[in-house]
Amino acid sequence: MFSKCKDIQAELVNMRRDLHKIPELGLDLPLTQKYVIAKLNEYGIEYSLNEGDSGIIAYVNKGKPGKVIALRADMDALPITEANDVDYKSTHEGKMHACGHDAHTSMLLGAAKILNENKDSLNGEVRFIFQTAEEISKGAPVMLKNNALKGVNAVFGTHIGTILDRTIPAGTFIVCPGAVMASFDRFVITVKGKGCHGSTPEKGVDPINIAAHVVLGLEGIIAREFNANDAVVITIGHIQGGAQYNIIPDEVIIEGTTRAFTEENRQKMARRIEEVAKFSAEAFGGTAELFMDWGAAPVVNDPEMAEFAGKCAIEVLGEEHVITRVKAPNMGGEDFAFYLGEVPGAFMFLSSSNPDKKTDYPHHNPHFNIDEDVLWEGSAIFVKIASEFLK
Ligand SMILES: [Zn+2]
Ligand SMILES: [Zn+2]
Repeated sequence: MFSKCKDIQAELVNMRRDLHKIPELGLDLPLTQKYVIAKLNEYGIEYSLNEGDSGIIAYVNKGKPGKVIALRADMDALPITEANDVDYKSTHEGKMHACGHDAHTSMLLGAAKILNENKDSLNGEVRFIFQTAEEISKGAPVMLKNNALKGVNAVFGTHIGTILDRTIPAGTFIVCPGAVMASFDRFVITVKGKGCHGSTPEKGVDPINIAAHVVLGLEGIIAREFNANDAVVITIGHIQGGAQYNIIPDEVIIEGTTRAFTEENRQKMARRIEEVAKFSAEAFGGTAELFMDWGAAPVVNDPEMAEFAGKCAIEVLGEEHVITRVKAPNMGGEDFAFYLGEVPGAFMFLSSSNPDKKTDYPHHNPHFNIDEDVLWEGSAIFVKIASEFLK
C-alpha cells in the first residue's frame, strides 16, 4: 500500500508549495485550515474542527472495531521574512514556513488519501491530527482538550528538515528509542530592589548587583548540581533594567529558557532557579520572584513503538536509509511531548538536507528550505506504520 505514495509525489509537492505561500502563525490558521478541509473533502475523508483553534481531526474508519492509531502533523509557521527566491515564496509579509510544517501537513494529507483509498484492508481506525501552534507549544494541549487521543493506542509524528544533523543526507529516516528532544520552558525572574541616586548606593538596594549574582548563581547550578552525563541547559537571553548611568533602578527582569531530558531534571532546574534568585536577592536586601512559563516536557519515545516504526521505515526505504541510534538527542523541544505523555508512540525525523539544492540551512533560518523529493517517503512511512499497526 505504501508504494502508492510514490504516485502522488507531484501532488505532495503542489500541496506543500500551496501551503508554503500562505504561512500563518499560532492558534489561528484560517487559510491553512480552509486548504486542508478542501483536500479532505476532495478525498472524501471525514473530519471534525477543533474548538479553541484552527486544528482539524480527520478519520479513516471512524469507530471501526480494532485498534486506533493517530498520526500527527503541525501546520503553523514563523514570524520570519523569507529570503528564498522561489516561485512559491511566502505571500504573507513577515511570515514564513521556516520549520517545514507545510511539508508535514502535505505528507499527512497524502497518507490520509492513500489510507482512505485502502480503508477496507485496515482492522481499525486511523486518526489524523492537524494541529496549530507547535512553535509556541500551545497547539497540542488544545488537541487533547478536543479529545484527539481519546481511545487511541499509539501516536506517531515526523519532523522533516535538518534538525538532528545537516550532514545526514536527504531521504534518511531517523527513529530512536527514549528521549529524542528536550523539554523547553521559559522563565522570568523579577528582581526588586530600591531605586536611588548612583552616588549613594547605600540609600537603596541595587537590583543590578543582585541580577549579576543571580546570573552567575544559575551557571553554578549547571556546573555543580547535575550529573555530567545529564544534558541540561539554562540560557538567559534577555536582561532588562535601568535607564540611566547614574540612577539605581527599582527592578531588573531576567528572562531565559531551560532544557532537559527528564522530568526530574526539568523540575529541579525550576526549583533551583527560584531558590538561587530568591536567596541571592535576600542576601542583598531585595526580593526576587520566579514565573515559570511551562512549555513542553521532553519528547520520550516508547522503545517498542520506536523499534516498530524503525522496522516499517526499513521496509519502505531500505536499511541503509534508516538510522535507529544517534550520538545525542536534540536540545530543541517539540510539543509532540504532550501526546507521548498520554499514549505510547514515537517522534521521528526525515532528513531533507541536500547541499546541492541549498536545503541544508538550519530551521528557523530565512533561507530554510527542504528537498521536496523526500515528501513521498514521509507519507509512505506513515502509511506503512498505520497499515502494519492495524493488521
Ligand atoms: Zn520550529
Ligand atoms: Zn518544527
